[in-house]
Amino acid sequence: MITAHLPAGYVLARTQDWRGPVLWAALLGAIFPDFDLLFFYFIDDRAIHHHRYWVHAPAFALACSGAAYLLASRVAKAWTDAIVAFGAAWMVHIVLDSVTGGIMWLWPVSGDLYRLIEVPGRAGVHFLVAFLTHWTIVFEIAIWIAALGFAWRQRQFT
Ligand SMILES: [Zn+2]
Repeated sequence: MITAHLPAGYVLARTQDWRGPVLWAALLGAIFPDFDLLFFYFIDDRAIHHHRYWVHAPAFALACSGAAYLLASRVAKAWTDAIVAFGAAWMVHIVLDSVTGGIMWLWPVSGDLYRLIEVPGRAGVHFLVAFLTHWTIVFEIAIWIAALGFAWRQRQFT
């Protein structure tokens, strides 16, 4: 998934009727895993696929989200809804990356990347162009349409 993580977080938030800080937590969680691109480009010199970093591993996301929830439920109950929203959006990001991007679903048992659909590389074509011109772009377009629909509906009734 290239462009639709943020609108996917918005769709998630709107389907759950999350508002205010909880909505913002969902939006942040929806894009959080791709902050690893800063490490990928500026520190790791693109040494490995960025989906091999822990923030794209479902087990790591679930462990962090679960630990944060347990901690907050004991010492900062006001944060629990935002933590649930952030963790759910984080997992939605990983699921969406599984369509074509490859995710380590079995990590830490296995480091293999699993994807539903392989986007073939083409000689002389940048990978972004290959992804954006592959038929799977319809998933991203559908998410954008859903998000814009929720935003339009929100505007109509507020
Ligand atoms: Zn990602």
